[in-house]
Amino acid sequence: MIPAAFDYVAPSTVDEAVQALASAGEDAKILAGGQSLLPVLRMRLAAPTTVVDLGKVSELRGVREDGDAIVIGAMTTHYDVQRDQLVAEHAALLARATDTVADPQVRHRGTFGGSIAHADPAGDLLAPALAMDAEMVIASSSGRRTVPAAEFFQDFFTTALGPGEILVEVRVPKHTGWKAHYEKFNRVAQAWSMVAVAATVRTDGDSIAEARVALTNMASVPVRATAVEEALIGRPATAESIRSAAAHAAEGTSPTADGNADVEYRQELAKVLTGRAVSAALAAV
Ligand code: FAD
Repeated sequence: MIPAAFDYVAPSTVDEAVQALASAGEDAKILAGGQSLLPVLRMRLAAPTTVVDLGKVSELRGVREDGDAIVIGAMTTHYDVQRDQLVAEHAALLARATDTVADPQVRHRGTFGGSIAHADPAGDLLAPALAMDAEMVIASSSGRRTVPAAEFFQDFFTTALGPGEILVEVRVPKHTGWKAHYEKFNRVAQAWSMVAVAATVRTDGDSIAEARVALTNMASVPVRATAVEEALIGRPATAESIRSAAAHAAEGTSPTADGNADVEYRQELAKVLTGRAVSAALAAV
C-alpha cells in the first residue's frame, strides 16, 4: 500500500528538528531508519500530517565516552553499534543483543534510538538498556530532560516520549570488565524474540559479585529479573547456583499469549533461557 500524503521535513540539527516538530503539532512523526515506521505508514496504521526525517542530523550519530558512561546517539545504526569499540569494551551486553537484531539489511538502516523509541516488547535492545540502567536523553522546544530506562518504557509501544519530543541519545553506565550474553529464542532465523534474556555479570574469583538480568517479551515492557539477580549475587559461579537462580525468572512477569506461544510456554522459556544466558555470560571471554 501507499502511505497517506504528508509534509516532509529534513532538518540538519536537533534545534531545527525540535522547531519543526513544535510547528507541525501533535500529528507529526519522527522518521529514523524507517524499518518500523515505513510499514506502519504503508499499512495506514498511522497517517501523520508531517514526517520529520532525522537522517541529516549528523550530531545524533556515533558513540562517545562521557565519564562513567558511554553515550550512544539516537541515529547510530545497529551496524555501527555492533562494531563500536566503546560499546564492545564498556557495554558488551548491548553488543551481544545488537548482533541478534534482524539481518544485515535491517541493521544497516535501523537505528538504536528508533528501536528504543518504538518500544516493541519483542525488540532486542530494550532489556539490555534496562539491565544496564541506561538513561534516555530527550529534547524538545522546552529544553532537555533525562528519563531512566525503568521509567521510560511504559506499555506496549508506549514510552515517556511526548508530542514534540526527540530521543537524542542514550547514556549507558560503563560495565567495564563485565561479561555478557543475550540469549534469544525465535522460531525462524532473523525473526523477533519470542522470549529473550539479557544477562551481564561481574565475577570476583570464583564468585558472582554482581549480576544484572532482564527479559524481553515477558510483559508489555522489558522486565528486570531482580529475584534471579538476588539469587546469583555472592554465590559461586557454578551450574547449581545458576539452575536455582534461573528458577525465579518468571517471577514478576506478565507475558501475553499469541500465535507463537502461550503464557506457560513463555514462562518456562524464561527460566531455560535465563540459565543459558547466565552460563554463557560467565563463560564469555
Ligand atoms: P523508525 O522505523 O524510523 O521509527 C520507529 C518509531 O520510533 C516511529 O514511531 C518513530 O517516530 C519513532 N522514533 C524513531 N526515532 C526516534 C527518536 N530519535 N526520537 C523519538 N522517536 C523516534 N528489531 C529487533 O529488536 N529485533 C529483531 O529481530 C528485529 N527484526 C526486524 C526484522 C525486520 C524485517 C524489520 C523490518 C525490522 C526488525 N526489527 C527488529 C526492528 C528494527 O530494529 C528497527 O530498527 C527498529 O524497530 C526501529 O528503528 P528505526 O531506526 O528503523 O526507526
